[in-house]
Amino acid sequence: MKRQGPCKDCSETIHVTPEKIKAMLQMLIDSRHVELADEATSTRRLAQCASCTGYTLGGTCKYCGCFVQIRTKIKDKGCPYPLTPKW
Ligand code: SF4
Repeated sequence: MKRQGPCKDCSETIHVTPEKIKAMLQMLIDSRHVELADEATSTRRLAQCASCTGYTLGGTCKYCGCFVQIRTKIKDKGCPYPLTPKW
């Protein structure tokens, strides 16, 4: 069987730097006027993502495709985990 190359989670292109995460978040604030969650809330959410089966090695949620570093910081976002959202 022929190898197809790295999976999405192993691809270099899916890994983003903290600077890019910050820039994407700022773009959402500027263009969509999103409000940020307080630091304690986003930290708690991120810890739940880190132990979730929906968390991918690329830093995205397999249920919504969002970067969890961004989704957890947006005040009005919720967790898309089926039936029992984690936050
Ligand atoms: S399902 Fe919820 S807790 Fe799990 S990775 Fe996605 S956003 Fe995070």
